[in-house]
Amino acid sequence: MIEQIYEKVFNFERINRDEGVKLLKKGDFLTLGKLANRVRFKKHPERIVTFILDTNINYTNICYVGCSFCAFYRKQGEPDAFTLSISELKEKIMEAQRMGITTALIQGGLNPELPYEYYLDMVKELKKSSVHVHAFSPPEIDLMSKISKKTVDEVFKDLKEAGLTTMPGGGAEILSERVRKKISPKKISTERWLEILEKAHKHGIKTTATMMFGHIEKEEDIIEHLDRVRSVQDKTGGFTAFIAWDFKRENNELGKTVKNGITGIDYLKIVAIARIYLDNFDNIQASWASQGKGIGELALHFGANDMGSMLIEENVMKEAGFRAEASVDEIASLIKKAGFTPALRTTDYKVIKYF
Ligand code: SF4
Repeated sequence: MIEQIYEKVFNFERINRDEGVKLLKKGDFLTLGKLANRVRFKKHPERIVTFILDTNINYTNICYVGCSFCAFYRKQGEPDAFTLSISELKEKIMEAQRMGITTALIQGGLNPELPYEYYLDMVKELKKSSVHVHAFSPPEIDLMSKISKKTVDEVFKDLKEAGLTTMPGGGAEILSERVRKKISPKKISTERWLEILEKAHKHGIKTTATMMFGHIEKEEDIIEHLDRVRSVQDKTGGFTAFIAWDFKRENNELGKTVKNGITGIDYLKIVAIARIYLDNFDNIQASWASQGKGIGELALHFGANDMGSMLIEENVMKEAGFRAEASVDEIASLIKKAGFTPALRTTDYKVIKYF
């Protein structure tokens, strides 16, 4: 039976949910890697691996949602709670620009005290610099819709007018209500997450899709997640890339109950399954920043064609006790050693420079 699924993938046929679950549960590790690579090279025949130089800035860590896996958020009034003014945010971005970034990935906690104009002014102000503003995950858009009393469509119209062109598909964790109700009951639902990104795509705002795994989910939940984003991609074609990272257990509630973290093999299997299942996604990222450079490099042989972000600034994983750092030369050298040509890219996957 599993051989029949291998054969389908080998012949570039789409697999269904049941087949995806079987492949994830029973698929041979190296066979999955080979199949994922076959799919990768059909889409990207050149041996090029891209990456982006960007910064991940959080404008606030104040958040009323309190997800059990989150080490980053603070409650209003806590000593290290912060909200940046737009000029502080701009200063950080200008500093990162001096280090060569092309994109600013901007996300916050869900701070209900911030007025709607704060978000629009932020995008307008940052747009004046030459940086690409890649900002706001679906839960932030939902909050903007609530505080402004506008529909999601109206919010996207305003943000687009202000200069927003792309968005990170964060806040997804696992798109299965069984899991979300346990780990983030106050966060937006799966349906709402998908609805918001589908609307973003219809407004011409391209996004990524993400997944955080390695906590309480089962294989069925992972495939449900992939299936839901694949269905939206069939309708809109608006996802540029898929990025998975694993749950980090330090400094958060969920970490006290999750006994075993994932292994490098678990991560590589997820990269391979994502490449195979998401047959309508062009780019699958190897998240070296969450897995470390060695696993990031190996992921390039399990279907990934992009090394993701260089992240001049990163706070969320750092708070959860994990920090991977690398210079541009180091990432380029890792890619070369893995047998590929490194290429620096923009947010919309245009190559700026080959190494
Ligand atoms: S993950 Fe996001 S929404 Fe959840 S508590 Fe952390 S900052 Fe808030």
